[in-house]
Formats: sequence, C-alpha cells, structure tokens
Amino acid sequence: MRIVLVGPPGAGKGTQAHLLAKTLSIPHISTGDLFRANIGQGTELGKAAKSYMDAGQLVPDEVTIGMAKDRMAQADAAQGFLLDGFPRNLAQAEALDGILAEWGIKLDGVLDLEVPEDEVVKRIAGRRLCRNDGSHVYHVDYNPPAVDGVCDECGGELYQRADDNEDTVRNRLDVYHTETEPIIAYYQAQGVVSTISALGKVNEVTDRAIEALKRDN
Ligand code: AMP
Repeated sequence: MRIVLVGPPGAGKGTQAHLLAKTLSIPHISTGDLFRANIGQGTELGKAAKSYMDAGQLVPDEVTIGMAKDRMAQADAAQGFLLDGFPRNLAQAEALDGILAEWGIKLDGVLDLEVPEDEVVKRIAGRRLCRNDGSHVYHVDYNPPAVDGVCDECGGELYQRADDNEDTVRNRLDVYHTETEPIIAYYQAQGVVSTISALGKVNEVTDRAIEALKRDN
C-alpha cells in the first residue's frame, strides 16, 4: 500500500504512522524525521533545513521534494510506503503525483487525521521523542513511557523537540491551515481521502485508521 497521512501538527501522525507501518509491513517515511536526522548528522541538507524548522516554516520545496523522492526510491519502499508530513503543500502534492506517474504507481489512500485545535496544543506541549528513533513518540500524560524519560522500545533518551514551543506551534498551525489543508481538497478530487477522528486512545485511533483504509480502498 502507498499511503499519505495528513493532519495538523500534534494530531498524532508520527505515532500512528509508526504503528500503521508496522501493521502493514511498509516503511514509515517522515520528512520531519529525515530533516532531524540530517540536522543531527550536521549535513548540508540539515543546515539548509534548520532555520525553517526552528521558525515553524516549511523547508523549501526544492530541498524537500528531492529528499522525499530519494527516500521513496530506496529498495525497502518498492512495495509500498506510508508518507508522514509529505506532501505539505499543493506543489509537493503535484510533484508527488509526477514522481508516482514516472514510476507507474499511484497512491492507495490519504488518511486525514482530525483533531480540535485546543487538543493539538496540549498534545504538542507534552510530546517527547526518542533520540535513537524519532518515530518512538510519547506524551507525558496521554502516553507516558514506563520509566520517566526513557524509551520503552529501545531504552533511548526522551527529549522535547526544539520546535514544540508555543510560538513555533502557532506558526506551524498557521502554515498547516494555509499551505497543507488545501491538499485535502486536492486529494478529495481524486477520491482517495479517508477522514477519521484522531481523538481517543492511541490503539483506538490505529484501529479506526485500519478500518478506514480497508473500507475506502
Ligand atoms: P514534522 O516532524 O512533520 O512535524 O516536521 C517538522 C518540521 O520539518 C516542519 O515544521 C517543517 O519545518 C519541516 N518539514 C517536514 N516535512 C516538510 C515538508 N514536507 N515540507 C516542508 N517542510 C517540512
């Protein structure tokens, strides 16, 4: 399956993508995780992305699209992938369609995670990520690790993302509404969108997502 996950920052895209990718045996491709890995490694790409990420703005398309394409072209993604955080604007959605057409494949579904804005802010404020693997995501109240500050899955140290602060979150939400939300209508016109509520327990949302993907595709 080839799936795109859409939703505002804090909707739980990373958490759900990690679980869905495991269930569906496809790689979880997060452009945010790829940027953070590049920043951690001090690459040129990481240097180019950092100031945009710190400000809660989108990294320019020419950097983002090439990076996403390179990742999708890797062998483990040949049978499918779950895209988390890409595409994030119409130009990226059109570029993705072009890439898939070039490869003779198409998307099976777009999963749209809906969550009220006040909930988003609470989720982001308490979010913690694993330093070893950014797709291991926790929340201090809603999804705490067994041992404070330690990843259940791999024992890595948990940390708070630099862009998970109030000012940056506000920018990221504005960017979501103006730049990213229009891609939902774009994909609705292609008849591939399943919208589900992202409220409730983590496993309830995963079950809902799997049901929706089965039902709509
Ligand atoms: P995320 O981990 O998905 O919340 O992304 C964190 C940050 O990475 C975003 O606020 C952007 O600055 C940048 N980013 C991630 N994905 C993209 C994308 N598809 N296009 C542009 N910037 C992105």
